[in-house]
Amino acid sequence: SGHPAFDVHAVRRDFPILQERVNGRPLVWFDNAATTQKPLAVLNRLDHFYRHENSNIHRAAHDLAARATDAYEKARETVRAFLGASSADEIIFVRGATEGINLIARTWGTKNIGDGDEILVSQLEHHANIVPWQQLAQEKGARLKVIPVDDSGQVILEEARRLISARTKIVAVTQVSNALGTVVPVAEIVELAHRAGAVALVDGAQSVSHMRVDVQAIGADFFVFSGHKVFGPTGIGAVFGRKALLDDMPPWQGGGNMIADVTFERTVFQPPPHRFEAGTGNIADAVGLGAALDYVDRIGIETIARYEHDLLAYATHQLAPIKGVRLIGTARDKASVLSFVLEGMKPEDVGRALNSEGIAVRSGHHCAQPILRRFGLEATVRPSLAFYNTCDEVDRFISVVRRLARA
Ligand code: PMP
Repeated sequence: SGHPAFDVHAVRRDFPILQERVNGRPLVWFDNAATTQKPLAVLNRLDHFYRHENSNIHRAAHDLAARATDAYEKARETVRAFLGASSADEIIFVRGATEGINLIARTWGTKNIGDGDEILVSQLEHHANIVPWQQLAQEKGARLKVIPVDDSGQVILEEARRLISARTKIVAVTQVSNALGTVVPVAEIVELAHRAGAVALVDGAQSVSHMRVDVQAIGADFFVFSGHKVFGPTGIGAVFGRKALLDDMPPWQGGGNMIADVTFERTVFQPPPHRFEAGTGNIADAVGLGAALDYVDRIGIETIARYEHDLLAYATHQLAPIKGVRLIGTARDKASVLSFVLEGMKPEDVGRALNSEGIAVRSGHHCAQPILRRFGLEATVRPSLAFYNTCDEVDRFISVVRRLARA
């Protein structure tokens, strides 16, 4: 069809775990929104780090410290390029999206949010982009406001326009909903925020593995993601923050690495990003994340996006018409996620039945209770696709759901 060749079977050979058998059947990994599997490129990079480079980073007289520091800072540069940021100083390594949002709430938020101010999130948010803002609002006497979604699960831009005012200090929205798969028009929302003088945070936990992300094109002031959802290790992620904002932010945690000078009377802090990286960081996994992003780059994120788009359409067209299936999240622009309930059957039981056929999906509230309740639900079944999934796997999944629907 004119697209550059994408060989899913070649790609699958890069992911050893996809050879696993579960309950006697070849594993189908449809739990990519919870975490993704890791390619050999990442496993080998971690192995290489611990065999040949392992050391704490920064000041030391020895060679391994220089190797580890170089590898860590090279990974920071890889994250910068992946997000389209203008400087590696705008990239802070954190544990993941959750820690990133908490860091922003505790530093930028503590300094800039006050009594009567408003924080705006969308109804689609993961708890990680609700709870830290709720905590901050309660402490500061600020208000947390919510942009509602329509029946398709898409954010209503008119409502965003109506809710953003001179009192709004920050608008924090997800780029892709982990519960429904909705792709949110974040650039438009960021523009609305900026016009009102607010800053904008985009939660990229579910977007970076499925589409080209360019923080400058989006216009985001802050952007966060987790490495483990983009084929990298757990325990590592990144915050992008615009330099002017980071320069003006107080530190969060205090300790080693983040200081320029310490006496018992006062501490002079490092400039960003080191000001926000107290203590020994997750050096090896940052390096592993760099390898994951390099791997994605070699496949090509546009190639990935096109393949997944077709796979999601294929799955949707088979799932939606099954009698008793109610698909939640039918926005025109979606990525990866199929969220549904099956009449007369608990989501946990659907998940268990799929697992007995080797098919891993998540069932539950997906850490996004408010959006499920918007649709009158406490839980859904949530298969979520990645570029190493196939039409054959979708067929296996659909045949189980058809059987359950008939029962
Ligand atoms: N935001 C979204 C949209 C997510 O899907 C997730 C993870 N499910 C998070 C934030 C939190 O990511 P983590 O648990 O890796 O910190």
